[in-house]
Amino acid sequence: MGYIQKLLKPILVSVVLFLFMIVTMSVTVHEVMSALIGSERQTQITEDMLGGMPDWITIEIVQAAVDMMNETGYPASVVLGQMILEGGAGGSELSNPPYYNCLGQKSPSHLESGTVTMVTEEAWGTVTAIFSTFRNYTDCMLAWGYKFTMPPYVDNVTACPRDPLTGHYDADAFIEAVWKSGYATDPNYVNKVIQIMTFYELYKFNSMTSSDLVPGDITGTGQFTHPCPGMTAQTSYFGEIREFEVGGHKGNDYAAPVGTPTYTADDGVVTVAGWSDSAGNWVVIDHGNGLVTKYMHHSKNVVSQGQTVKKGQKIGEVGSTGQSTGPHLHFQVELNGVAVNPDDYL
Ligand SMILES: [Zn+2]
Repeated sequence: MGYIQKLLKPILVSVVLFLFMIVTMSVTVHEVMSALIGSERQTQITEDMLGGMPDWITIEIVQAAVDMMNETGYPASVVLGQMILEGGAGGSELSNPPYYNCLGQKSPSHLESGTVTMVTEEAWGTVTAIFSTFRNYTDCMLAWGYKFTMPPYVDNVTACPRDPLTGHYDADAFIEAVWKSGYATDPNYVNKVIQIMTFYELYKFNSMTSSDLVPGDITGTGQFTHPCPGMTAQTSYFGEIREFEVGGHKGNDYAAPVGTPTYTADDGVVTVAGWSDSAGNWVVIDHGNGLVTKYMHHSKNVVSQGQTVKKGQKIGEVGSTGQSTGPHLHFQVELNGVAVNPDDYL
């Protein structure tokens, strides 16, 4: 026995070292791939489109404004226009990584990752303030948008007309609505922002949807397979009115034990496989023809951004991450950026 153990020890050590190498290498490959996919994703917003804008407005910031718009419907042109009008934290230390606070938002803010105390020079003297820090520009933009989901803004904002194709709010109506709700006291504020949006041609960003940001021409069948056949019950329906959320429920909730597999409803490309404070571990899949499906609250995702998936392929496991009260899959279907009834496709 002693002899065999002596012989086995170096073999085991080599095996362990070898496995460690493999893991390290695959992590590196994964990071390189993510970086490549990440930069590929940004190529749809080009330097040309930024022509004539202040140079502290980068492709990354415009991308974040479009991402925020795709999640909230609030126009990218308005947040960019306000940044230009107010100078924001443009190009400052606060605006750059690792703080990502390009809108000069003071703490506390929705989604802030921490705080930083900064001394700023104002016309009337030196001011010390506590600002929010964010994990990325998208979180900073979402923090800006979060204000409008609450009083005093929410009623005027939700009354604004939306583009029937993209679901995004009309930019001029939106800026008027937030001004009317007390966002700024300057009586010419609305005109100033509209002039900037016109001068810098910011309106062109408002028609961009997440599908514009992803290359590839994968098109699904339009006939979906059930994303969670292992469910125990459907606990909420599309359109259901619940007191804790604004507007009707945007999808179907399927309750299932943690770890139950979830599957892509159709062929497509994974445009998001990541974390959101509200959706938890979530996956978004673009099926072409304006059809997008979203899968929320996973205990884990098993696909990654940029990956092509086949109808019925496993994409994750049921969990209760993000804003969730128990293990379930929230399944949402969007047609041209507007949530529609999943049952019409199942
Ligand atoms: Zn839900």
